[in-house]
Amino acid sequence: MLNHIINNPVYRGTYIAGKESMCLYRHEKRRTVPKEEWIVIENNHEALVTEEEYKEILKIKPKHRKTKRREENYLGGIIRCGKCGSAMNDWTDHGTKRYYVCGRKARYGVGVCDCRNYPKEKAYQTVLQVIKEEMQELLDLDIVLEKLNHSKEADRHIKMLSGKIQASKLEITKTASLKSGLYVDLRDGLINEEKYRVLTTEYSERLETLNGALKEYERVLEDTKQSPLDRTEVKVLIDKYKRKRNLSREMVDALVKEVFVNDGELEVVLKFNDKLLKLSELIDERRAWKDEN
Ligand SMILES: [Zn+2]
Repeated sequence: MLNHIINNPVYRGTYIAGKESMCLYRHEKRRTVPKEEWIVIENNHEALVTEEEYKEILKIKPKHRKTKRREENYLGGIIRCGKCGSAMNDWTDHGTKRYYVCGRKARYGVGVCDCRNYPKEKAYQTVLQVIKEEMQELLDLDIVLEKLNHSKEADRHIKMLSGKIQASKLEITKTASLKSGLYVDLRDGLINEEKYRVLTTEYSERLETLNGALKEYERVLEDTKQSPLDRTEVKVLIDKYKRKRNLSREMVDALVKEVFVNDGELEVVLKFNDKLLKLSELIDERRAWKDEN
């Protein structure tokens, strides 16, 4: 409204006519007339705002105000109340500080959920810190694993594994052939039906065990060749975000699975937590090789 008055020359005593035209007898629609064709009579009537006052007002008039920026909410949809599981909303007490507030508490009151609000800025910092610490831990563990994969013990273990894989394959072939021969034995009267059933079950179970062991040997062998980090995009993500100083929505979407607020404490669950676990398991596995030799 103020803008309208400031910018309307009529308030400064100028008469303007002919801004729009209309042909009455043809009932044509009104059209806007270009500014150059307006009828402008300055000092037509007493100004409500003098030219001097107008210039003063222009000085204090705020610069073209941008439409209010929508408050960023990087953890929206990811941050939850640890007490009731409800999504936490971005909220301000009309001061400068913003908080994450349990949605159920906001709607139904503290009788339903009495969890504490969590300062938004602090949440951002904590999430960023956890991301950086866990990324560093991944890289550290990866180096440890790489060293263990190239140790003398690992070489010995890999040779032993290759031997076991060969032996398992032979054993599987042999057992499978014995199992398929049972029917012929039954037909030729060398074994009775009871014996046939017992042996069939026995060989089937044996084959299952052998195949399971073979799979596991092959898995362990495969894991000695390449780190779990190399096999995924996690390393690319680490390179991309390791040196970032501020959290962003893109970063949260790429790395953060869930965030829980538990009475003033943040629990940050990252998407690559499983990789951290896998690396730890592989390291433990290799450390055990030292003991078995
Ligand atoms: Zn809650």
